[in-house]
Amino acid sequence: GKADIGVTGLAVMGSNLARNFARNGYTVALHNRTAARTRALVADHGDEGSFVATESPEDFVAALERPRRLMVMVKAGEPTDAVIRQFAPLLEEGDVIIDGGNAHFEDTRRRERELREQGIHFVGTGISGGEEGALNGPSIMPGGSAESWQSLGPMLEKISAKAQDGSPCTAHMGPDGAGHYVKMVHNGIEYADMQLIAEAYDLLRSVGGYSPAQIAEIFHTWNTGRLDSYLIEITAEVLAHDDDATGRPFVDIVLDQAEQKGTGRWTVQIALDLGVPVSGIAEAVFARSLSGHRDLRDAAHGLPGPRAKALHGAEAAAFADKVEQALYASKIVSYTQGFHQIQAGSDTYDWGVDLGRVAAIWRNGCIIRAAFLDRITAAYRARPDLPSLLSDRHFAEEIGAAQDDWRAVVAAAAAGGVPAPGFSAALAYYDALRAERLPAALTQAQRDFFGAHTYRRADRDGVFHTLWGGDRREVDAG
Ligand code: NDP
Repeated sequence: GKADIGVTGLAVMGSNLARNFARNGYTVALHNRTAARTRALVADHGDEGSFVATESPEDFVAALERPRRLMVMVKAGEPTDAVIRQFAPLLEEGDVIIDGGNAHFEDTRRRERELREQGIHFVGTGISGGEEGALNGPSIMPGGSAESWQSLGPMLEKISAKAQDGSPCTAHMGPDGAGHYVKMVHNGIEYADMQLIAEAYDLLRSVGGYSPAQIAEIFHTWNTGRLDSYLIEITAEVLAHDDDATGRPFVDIVLDQAEQKGTGRWTVQIALDLGVPVSGIAEAVFARSLSGHRDLRDAAHGLPGPRAKALHGAEAAAFADKVEQALYASKIVSYTQGFHQIQAGSDTYDWGVDLGRVAAIWRNGCIIRAAFLDRITAAYRARPDLPSLLSDRHFAEEIGAAQDDWRAVVAAAAAGGVPAPGFSAALAYYDALRAERLPAALTQAQRDFFGAHTYRRADRDGVFHTLWGGDRREVDAG
């Protein structure tokens, strides 16, 4: 019989997804630019299910059941366009191309538009969970037409991770670029989560006086509570690991310069365009960039500043509890910002993204999977039109209960000279949102002074300008 789906691009992600489909009973056609990879996959894993190995694009397309479902798992960017140019002429109306690479959603919008003219459905799909997830069940975030979801949805539901309640960690996110957009924000939130965890570690070490092995224990304990998540779990494992060569804590021998592939940066770039304050994600991206500027760091090395005095015993333990509160509260803020950005994208591009559904499919399979996402899912299910995560009663109560400790931790960081941009930015966001008046009034007044940019008044309608250079009379500028 013919193949239910085809995968072209058989590096680690494509191979593992192909095996996942096959293990779930689907017949999978295989193709890769370099045929050796295809042969290697069949040689190593051909017994795991039903594969149809092909070497030419024509044979690959001919092997597929109609309407054809063709998944592209090649390097994101120009290679994706090259592969589409190669395959699109071989396809027919109603066929579906799925791009599971880390594409920019604007590219996905363009590709979808171009292929739609040929009657081909283009499904830009976010896939999270790394190679392990691709094989055993990732979180899958597909965009594209509703019709393509009809044909593809059941297969994606089968190979995806399952949440604790058994529901699949995939759902139709919305038309054209919605899936890749949601994946982009997922990665932005991942950056923020990682930065907050890094700050918690740094504070536990320099203010709390704990060793990496002790901090591993603390994270291990946190992982049994409300912070239960994949990233906390792997943090405990990394911190407990000692370097083979030197016997020192592994974290101490890794060069302290974090790299990035781009999705976090995209999240912030788009947030700036849409005017969404994602300060937590931005600080996380900047913290990575700062770490990479070895020259600037060396030049600043001798600048004065305090050295944190390490706490001991019960005081250290009490501080660790406060750090847990600060981490949890800051995490609520990053997710509040991230979901705001998804809402803003959905409004701008008219996608109709269901935020509760996004939270639900992030509950398992992806890098940010966490017990916490069950709570977000529940919050949006209770109130689909929730204006912000912070307006959910439960999150508001928790952040309210955490705020004293959160402030104490940010103060301790400042007093001890320990950088905590994530914790601080999250707290500033919280305080700015709840403030009755913001100094934005002064900013706007300054703008009117030097640029006649006008202002609105708090006490009545209209647009005004003050004649700052003259007699300072207020004139109607409406
Ligand atoms: P790579 O990103 O390393 O891409 C390698 C694959 O792309 C190979 O199959 C290669 O073929 C193919 N390729 C590259 N250029 C071309 C071209 N011009 N024409 C045809 N084929 C080409 O592989 P990964 O498996 O790491 O990732 C695949 C996609 O999944 C990427 O878009 C990535 O961003 C995304 N992704 C990766 C994750 C991960 O954890 N690695 C997680 C989630 C998404 P050949 O063998 O002939 O060189």
